[in-house]
Amino acid sequence: MPKQYIDLATLKFILYKVHDLQNVLDQDRYADYDQASVDLFLNAVKDFSDKELFPFFREMDAQAAHYKEGEIIVHSQVREYMKKGGEMGLIGALFDYDIGGLQMPNVVVTAATYIQETANNHLPGYIGLTLGAAELIVHFGNASLNDTYVPKMITGDWGGTMCLTEPQAGSSLSDIVTAAVPNGESYKISGQKIFISGGDYQGAGNIVHLVLARIKGAPAGTKGISLFVVPKKRPSANGGLIPNDVNTLGDFQKMGQKGYCTTHLSFGDQNDCQGWLVGEPNKGLKYMFLMMNGARIGVGRGAAAITMAAYRASLSYAKERPQGRNLTTTGKKDVSQEQTLIINHPDVKRMLFFQKVVAEGSLSLVLLASKYHDLSTTHANPKEREKYLLLLEILTPIVKTYPSEMGSVSVSNGLQVLGGYGYCNDFILQQYFRDIRIFPIYEGTTGIQSLDLLGRKIPMDNGKPLQLLSEEIMKTINGASEFSELVPYAEKLGTKLELAQQVLQFLLPFAQKGDYQRFLSDATVFMEFFGNIVMGWLWLDMGKKAQNELVSGDTQYSAELLKDKIHAMKFYFKYELPKSTALAEVLMNKEVLTLASDTKVFG
Ligand SMILES: Cc1cc2nc3c(=O)[nH]c(=O)nc-3n(C[C@H](O)[C@H](O)[C@H](O)COP(=O)(O)OP(=O)(O)OC[C@H]3O[C@@H](n4cnc5c(N)ncnc54)[C@H](O)[C@@H]3O)c2cc1C
Repeated sequence: MPKQYIDLATLKFILYKVHDLQNVLDQDRYADYDQASVDLFLNAVKDFSDKELFPFFREMDAQAAHYKEGEIIVHSQVREYMKKGGEMGLIGALFDYDIGGLQMPNVVVTAATYIQETANNHLPGYIGLTLGAAELIVHFGNASLNDTYVPKMITGDWGGTMCLTEPQAGSSLSDIVTAAVPNGESYKISGQKIFISGGDYQGAGNIVHLVLARIKGAPAGTKGISLFVVPKKRPSANGGLIPNDVNTLGDFQKMGQKGYCTTHLSFGDQNDCQGWLVGEPNKGLKYMFLMMNGARIGVGRGAAAITMAAYRASLSYAKERPQGRNLTTTGKKDVSQEQTLIINHPDVKRMLFFQKVVAEGSLSLVLLASKYHDLSTTHANPKEREKYLLLLEILTPIVKTYPSEMGSVSVSNGLQVLGGYGYCNDFILQQYFRDIRIFPIYEGTTGIQSLDLLGRKIPMDNGKPLQLLSEEIMKTINGASEFSELVPYAEKLGTKLELAQQVLQFLLPFAQKGDYQRFLSDATVFMEFFGNIVMGWLWLDMGKKAQNELVSGDTQYSAELLKDKIHAMKFYFKYELPKSTALAEVLMNKEVLTLASDTKVFG
């Protein structure tokens, strides 16, 4: 087991320097925080992760959550984690002081959760979902719902879930059929939800499900979906709790994240399940989507964390494993020499660098999106708030997708670094490989995120988010051009930005002609193309900030760390960024193959 599952110095460099945390801390809402207090908090979270998360990581994989006699049996650390996490303030960290929260910036909470996820990605979801469910009640629920549920959720006594998916309604939520029938002050709920993370576990005093359902007579499609609080146990007249006819039918046995239960729930089998409407009828999906940016950043963050942990594990193996010899000047091996460590083989170094640029680049992307999230809600100037919201809108599908998709490839490379041991249970890489595979699937698949990016976010507001993003990228290009060492990289990124414009000039006319099938048929290829360029931007930014620190001479960061970032930037520009050219060729190829519905290609 690696002792160092995270590189905390890099996290802090990206948070404090690359993304200028102070800019967020300057907002009135965060007046009580400064970099020193954030530093203390992150160190405490690392300590907490060392003690309460990392030691249970492999055990939770081996002792998978499972169904037994109507309930889900999870590892006992789930309860401990909820309790201790609640005591530390991790569940309420984002909330206002007056409801028991810590009023912390989103970007700081993101960094804290990331640390935990590098230690053990099976646990933080229990807190994340409780926080997400409580957030929905806080933002849209009435006083009674707030008083009844939120305080107990913030302390971790009660858990929370998000119940959207049904057997026939996964990517397409318009097909939800769970029913809500008015019944006095509440509604009778009936229906089934599948794949519900954290849907049932022992030790929680209650589990508060946030359920999407259709009120009888509501319009078809997404316009007729409402949001309900449906607790496992409901308040009784005498102030206690009684069962609410929420039944656990099973736990899905998965290839990874085995300690994070995924349940099948049935509501109202005995016609006695009560739910309370959140906000107004028929606005449920809108409410959910208002919270979706945060949830999608959360998925990108989890994938980025696993990518980092896997990179650290393969790096420590590569530094210890002797195998083969360095080539001599004749191009032959000299077997009289001692074996060399595998990290000395260029191909192993290449795999490690690849992991590094995906891991650290993804972390940078996730923290940037969280910063935009903060500024879009707390900046004093409304125009700035709108700008950051639009930037967040266009980045969100990429934040969900790049770390998930490229993280999976990166962890696979990590496994490859270990050779045969990568495939064996003796080492941890195979667990990371299995754990990360869900990330491109849940919270909207890569296909759905790609439709969102090309079909909605690019054309949004006459292209305003794209224009704002291009301006940010140009700022970085211009800033990097001031350092002679970075000029070639700045120029290279400039040509990629032009390439993105060419690709869009080719694709957008299909939408203008109403040929949406053709416009969106390669949306996922576009996602890969555009994500690759966005990462080029973030790496140039990282290189620029590192170079700036190096030349300033007055820096809290080691020269080793700063030079390491510049080298990694160069690696990204040599090995990764050029891939966008090939993807552009695919995107602008006039041949249409996947829409050929009249051609029988699959036998
Ligand atoms: C471990 C796990 C945990 C989960 N946790 C939760 C949870 O807590 N709460 C919850 O509500 N749900 C949860 N889910 C459900 C998850 O969000 C869905 O599985 C996901 O949205 C995909 O839906 P689906 O499985 O029905 O796949 P489908 O929608 O059937 O998709 C199958 C394939 O078709 C593609 N596809 C579908 N529609 C389109 C389209 N219009 N255009 C192009 N391609 C398309 C998809 O991209 C995918 O590749 C979880 C799932 C898993 C596996």
